[in-house]
Amino acid sequence: MFIFDLELTNFRNYARSSVPLHPGLNIVVGENAQGKSNLLEAIYLLSTLRSSRASNDADLVRRDVLESEFPVARLTTQVERAAGSLHLEVAIVGRSTDSSHRAGKRVRMNSIAKRTSETVGQLAAVLFTTLDIDIVAGPPLLRRRFLDLMISQIDRGYLRAMQRYARVLQQRNSLLKQVREREASANDLNFWDQELAHSGGIILKARSDALGHIVPHAQLQMERLSDGAEHIDIVYTPAMGGADEFDCPIDETEWTARMIKVMGDRRDREIRAGSTLIGPHRDDWTIHVNGLEAGAFASRAQQRSAALSLRLAEASYLRNALGDDPVVLLDDVLSELDARRREAVLEYIDTFQQTIITTAEPDRVRDVMTRAAGRYVVSMGALTPFEGE
Ligand code: ATP
Ligand code: MG
Repeated sequence: MFIFDLELTNFRNYARSSVPLHPGLNIVVGENAQGKSNLLEAIYLLSTLRSSRASNDADLVRRDVLESEFPVARLTTQVERAAGSLHLEVAIVGRSTDSSHRAGKRVRMNSIAKRTSETVGQLAAVLFTTLDIDIVAGPPLLRRRFLDLMISQIDRGYLRAMQRYARVLQQRNSLLKQVREREASANDLNFWDQELAHSGGIILKARSDALGHIVPHAQLQMERLSDGAEHIDIVYTPAMGGADEFDCPIDETEWTARMIKVMGDRRDREIRAGSTLIGPHRDDWTIHVNGLEAGAFASRAQQRSAALSLRLAEASYLRNALGDDPVVLLDDVLSELDARRREAVLEYIDTFQQTIITTAEPDRVRDVMTRAAGRYVVSMGALTPFEGE
C-alpha cells in the first residue's frame, strides 16, 4: 500500500502542511528540530492510533493552539491498498483543565466516524528510529511494545484482548489489596483469575506465534547485514514458562490453563504484594547475538544491527499477514550505518511499495537522494519541494 495527499494541521510544530508523497522512495531533508520526526510520527499515528513517543496525546497538539478555543490537531491522508482505497482522518482534540492538558482522538474512515480500535492497522506502517536499539538493550516494556504494535496492526482480536486485559488487571489488583486488608475474601479472586487468564491466553498465544514468525526473517536480515558473520536468536520467556517447555505449540486454552495454575501457586505472594506479579504485562523475550544475550553482551553495532533486523522482519511479517506492503518509515537511521549495511537495508526496502526517509545529512545519503521519487525539505514545520540537484 501507499499513502498520498497527507495533510497535517496544528500537529506538533506543523501549523498547516500538505505533502503530496509518491509511491516508491520519498526523502525529507531537514536540519535538526525542524519537524522530520514529527512528520513520521504523524504517519505512524494514522496507522497505530498511538504516538511513537508522546505519553500524553495533548503533546501532539501544536502549543500555540492548545489553549485556544479550538485546540485540535488534524491528520488526513489518502491510502491506496490492495483491500481498496481509503480516506483516513484522525483529530486530536485537546481539553485543558486547571492544572493539565489532556486530549482525546476522533477517527473517520471515508468520512464516517469509527472507533479507534476499528481503525488501527487500516494503514499498515513500520517505523525505524535511532531509538530502536533500546528494543535490544532497553527494558522489557519496549520489547512488549514492539510486539503489541506489530500484532495490533493485523489482529483486531489481539487489540481487544489487550484492552480487556488492562481493565481486568486493574480490577484484580484492587481486589488483591482488599484481600490483603481483609476487606474481601480470597475466593473472590477465582472469578478474576479466570477473566485475566482468558484475555491473557489470547495475548500469550499471539505473541508466541508472532515471534515464531519473525525469527527466521530476523535471522536472514542479520546475516545479510553482517555478511554472514552474525547470528541472531530470539527466545520468548513469559513468566509462566515459555512455549519451548512444552512438547508442541500450545493454543490459547492451554496458555490460559497455565496462567490459572501459576496464579494459583502464587496467590499468597500476590496478596502480600497487593498486585498481579505474572502475566503478559510482565512478559519478556530475549535476543541473542552469536549465542550471547544481546542486551548485556553485544557491541553497540551488533545491537543496532539486531534492532534493524527486527524492524525489517516486522515489515515482512506485516507484508505476509496482510498480503499487502506496509508503508516503511525510516527516521534518520541511514546516516548512522556504514555503506554496506545501508545498501543491505535499501535493497530490501526497495521491494516495498512506498518508503519515506528523513535525513539531516543529505550529503551522506546522496545515492538515496538521486533515486528518490519525491524529495522534500522541512523547515520550521513547513514542507516544500527540494530544489537541489
Ligand atoms: P532532529 O534532527 O533533531 O531529530 P527533527 O527534525 O526530527 O530533529 P522533531 O522531533 O520533528 O525534529 O521536532 C521539531 C520541533 O517540534 C522541535 O523543536 C519541538 O520543540 C517542536 N514541537 C514538538 N511538539 C510540539 C508541539 N506540540 N507544539 C509545537 N512545537 C512542538
Ligand atoms: Mg528527529
